[in-house]
Amino acid sequence: MTTPEEFNLRAWGLPDPAELAALAAGWFPEFAGAEPAARTAEATARTAAARPRAPADWEALAAGPGPSPEPPAYAPLVLPQDRAGSAAAGAYGPPPDPAARTGNTYKYSQIYVGSRSLEAIRADFPIFREQVNGRDLVWLDNAATTQRPRQVIDRLSRYYERENSNVHRGAHELAARSTDAYEDARGKAARFIGAPSADNIVFVRGATEGINLAAQAYVRPYLKPGDEIVLTMLEHHANIVPWQLVAGETGAVLRVAPIDRTGQIVLSEYGRLFNSRTRFAAITQVSNALGTVTPAAEMVQIAHSRGVRVLIDGAQSVSHLPVNVSALDADFFVFSGHKIFGPTGIGVLYGKSDVLEAARPYQGGGNMIADVTFERTVYRKAPAKFEAGTGNIADAVGLGAALDYVSAIGMENIAAWERELLRYAMKEMAGVPGLRLIGTAAEKASVFSFVLEGRGLEETGSYLNSRGIAVRAGHHCAQPVHRYFGLEGTVRPSLAFYNTPEEIDRLVRALYELA
Ligand code: PMP
Repeated sequence: MTTPEEFNLRAWGLPDPAELAALAAGWFPEFAGAEPAARTAEATARTAAARPRAPADWEALAAGPGPSPEPPAYAPLVLPQDRAGSAAAGAYGPPPDPAARTGNTYKYSQIYVGSRSLEAIRADFPIFREQVNGRDLVWLDNAATTQRPRQVIDRLSRYYERENSNVHRGAHELAARSTDAYEDARGKAARFIGAPSADNIVFVRGATEGINLAAQAYVRPYLKPGDEIVLTMLEHHANIVPWQLVAGETGAVLRVAPIDRTGQIVLSEYGRLFNSRTRFAAITQVSNALGTVTPAAEMVQIAHSRGVRVLIDGAQSVSHLPVNVSALDADFFVFSGHKIFGPTGIGVLYGKSDVLEAARPYQGGGNMIADVTFERTVYRKAPAKFEAGTGNIADAVGLGAALDYVSAIGMENIAAWERELLRYAMKEMAGVPGLRLIGTAAEKASVFSFVLEGRGLEETGSYLNSRGIAVRAGHHCAQPVHRYFGLEGTVRPSLAFYNTPEEIDRLVRALYELA
């Protein structure tokens, strides 16, 4: 293997063995040791052998479906108009005959999320005027991506119509406008997640790139053969594969924290995974497959008490819960714009100042440098150090507009409304014959995955699509957690704050038809 320095120096015919050795030792300590090929083989074997140490009952669970978990007891749904004592109170709920479930039992114009009616909120999203298979679109694929409000779409147009320029470089009016808009968006992202400063915010392509950046730029250079990285069974492939890559290249090993039957992390077991070889931990805050809200703050505390830094994958949390990276004490935190009503191709990597300073650059190029000669480059400080080349300026600005939009409604209000919707959905769905809910943790957000006896995943997804209802059917890029439950996938409806009880009714009605 050749380090980037070796490659560059050789390419330019400037090999300086002493300088080269010093650079390699500093950036890739493992290069000083064994033959890379031998080390890579050993690393592959160790990673393959690394399995979660599960107590007997978890192993049984991993071996097969086992008994269906008890459906949780849900308190009756209380919609805001009930609290106000309106005539609609108690007028809905599952009637004994599903065929009687045709009439809408309440109006979402009466439901408020924060100070805005659900009707007004939905009017902000042009896509909800779409018809799919002759019916009004029901968008229940929010965990895959969310829809964009007019405010975000308009902000993108305004950027291109009035501000478009490259940032930072030009000394003219439009460069100033675009730079202001871009850096404003960085400030909005920092405030939205409670970061101390905009300098802690690196714009990336999305959560996936954020995790890869942290893995390659911060963690990899410190890894030696036998070192360990702690993950959890709940992770999305985006929070598994980047760690596998760095482990495979360095001889490090992945350790995986188990979950219980409801799909929640077992905290006592989590602590036991840490030892003197643990170098890093990565955890999801909300599982995209089960909706489990993990005890992320406690997990960070456990890791920190062992001197281990932590990355939190917030791809599924930021749009559903108020998030504060400072309160979580996260060392890194990532999220994607498209999962929080913003554009695709833009996301955020938050890093504490010291980890960003310690990390090596991820990519080289313009923008990230203070000074370049053919012999060496002096990098700018974070976040510029990690933003080589021309960034996704317009979409960063669009993300800022999306964060403004949800902030105006209030993340607490959004979380409270979604809790009610989720409780309603799970209560209604539990009555569908042959339906098994997967992921029943007490702390849960947005996602209500299920399998339907005698019906395939694709069959269920297609049937729902024929009714105008969009859900995901498959493994949702989280194969390990499905296999833990003895499944290869689920059907996954997932909510956002713009969804309505009426849409849940349409889903449940279609499931009754199918069952
Ligand atoms: N983590 C989780 C928990 C996710 O749900 C996703 C997207 N499904 C990702 C990471 C990756 O996000 P992106 O594809 O936007 O990079």
